[in-house]
Amino acid sequence: MKNAAEMHSVFFLSSSLKNVLLSFKIKAIVKKICVFCGSSMGVKPAYREAAVALGIALAERQDELIYGGANVGLMKVLAETMMQRGGRVVGIMPHHLIRKEVAHNGIDLMHEVKSMAERKELMVELSDAFIAMPGGFGTLDEISEILTLNQLRIADKPLGLLNTEGYFDHLLAFLDHGVSEGFIRAEHRDSIIISDDPFKLPALLEEYRPVAIGKWIEEIKQESGE
Ligand code: AMP
Repeated sequence: MKNAAEMHSVFFLSSSLKNVLLSFKIKAIVKKICVFCGSSMGVKPAYREAAVALGIALAERQDELIYGGANVGLMKVLAETMMQRGGRVVGIMPHHLIRKEVAHNGIDLMHEVKSMAERKELMVELSDAFIAMPGGFGTLDEISEILTLNQLRIADKPLGLLNTEGYFDHLLAFLDHGVSEGFIRAEHRDSIIISDDPFKLPALLEEYRPVAIGKWIEEIKQESGE
């Protein structure tokens, strides 16, 4: 049995060790990348070109692509570019969408799930990191899901926005507004990795550091007079 002084020094040593380890830049493992992107093509050719470029970049890195499994829009362009370059592609799709014949039949593996909620859960479970490309409500929902799970540390996985043609500038301005109005914490806003370069973004995801939960929970308790 250790006495109080010994217990204190054990605690001190283990917390200093933790701080030393945290100060090292340990890179996040990023091999399975889930990409959220439009089921539409978008009006500018640059969106399609970005999906092709991201497909080439991921295949060159020998990453696995996880995505919504569709054969429409930017999703199709991305998945097909990956496959043409020999990359592995995994889809996750609910039954009802498969029945609507929007599933891509040529990919390496298709997970069939019961609902959109289950699909997001499996995407989070199977992926090391996430990239959102330009898209609509579905893409926004997926971005928001990852940010919320990361904020609560239910997940702690990097999220990058591929900001082709400044597509996400308005969303980022809204998030900044959320910070200045006191509804979004700056450290959570700043944890989003942003680049318009499909060849640089995957490597940037490896630099991600999760935000510690304790500090901001204490701060919001204080704000609320707890
Ligand atoms: P949206 O941005 O509204 O076009 O929706 C695209 C995103 O939502 C993708 O990242 C998919 O995971 C999901 N999604 C929406 N519609 C479909 C669809 N028809 N087939 C497959 N996935 C879809």
